Amino acid sequence: MIDTSSNATPRQSILIVDDKKTNLALLNKILAPEYTILAARSGEEALKRLAENLPDLILLDTVMPGMDGFEVISRLKREPATQRIPVIFISGPNDAGDEEKSFNLGAVDYIGKPFKEVIVRARVRNHLQILRQMSVIERLGLLDPLTDIASRRSFDEHLPRVWESAVRERKPLALLMMDIDNFKAYNDTHGRPQGDVLLKRIACLIKSATAHHPLDICARIGGEEFVVLCPETDHVGALDIAEQLRLNVENMKVLSFDRKPTSATISIGVASVIPTNDDEMTSFIKLADERLYAAKTNGRNRIVG
Ligand code: GH3
Ligand code: MG
Ligand code: MG
Repeated sequence: MIDTSSNATPRQSILIVDDKKTNLALLNKILAPEYTILAARSGEEALKRLAENLPDLILLDTVMPGMDGFEVISRLKREPATQRIPVIFISGPNDAGDEEKSFNLGAVDYIGKPFKEVIVRARVRNHLQILRQMSVIERLGLLDPLTDIASRRSFDEHLPRVWESAVRERKPLALLMMDIDNFKAYNDTHGRPQGDVLLKRIACLIKSATAHHPLDICARIGGEEFVVLCPETDHVGALDIAEQLRLNVENMKVLSFDRKPTSATISIGVASVIPTNDDEMTSFIKLADERLYAAKTNGRNRIVG
């Protein structure tokens, strides 16, 4: 457990955006004892505040005259400077459609009006706590800042432990090594920021594909290279996961900044082993890497295993 509760840590700040003075006053009263509060009365004013000062968290009203909360969050998510600031929508009347829309646009939470003070305080505290822990993990270099999945360093630290445990328990271990096809051309065609969007989407897809295998570890180990390490998985199982991933990426449509659908494919090398001694670990990685290379030379968008 990472302890981030040191007294030396600076106060976190929250930008509250609401067109109603009474709401602003109430939220201020609830949160000001623990946090530094910035306030804005409209979407336009919020963007102005954000140009001067970046808060740790934003509480955003959905319905406001002029620019509404949805427009504000869409803009924030497009800007590199603001896209990682967590946004909690505070909205009323409680509308399930709004709630879904909020999450689709990238909000981390949604609180319906009328709200209870304790709920607001608890949810805000939770999200700010996650933020502190994430930044500690990032500082340790264990999380890739672009995609929020494990970094190369994290993978390098995990692999020997997973390997040893597979040796001890005489269980199979599989490794998927994958690389986006023609990513340089994708960047050249759509621009590097769009390339970053694609990297994030593919990372997300890999993460959700492995979400129901709690032992699996996925990581971004290079510019457009990812790995999934699957303990207790045999070769057939690994090829299944690989094919599912390959298909999901092939079918994925990623909207470009000018709202045109773009797509990409990946190539995957799969290796599996029931490890018996420490010497084999590097050749195991090498095998997955060679198979990835073979998938590339055989025409890309394929699996070699
Ligand atoms: P192949 O199918 O053989 O893998 O071809 P490729 O074009 O994908 O491979 P290549 O190694 O030639 O190019 C990789 C490109 O990935 C070049 C590099 O600029 C880009 N890249 C690396 N890291 C990032 C990143 O963080 N963001 C973006 N947008 N591009 C990146
Ligand atoms: Mg590539
Ligand atoms: Mg590459």
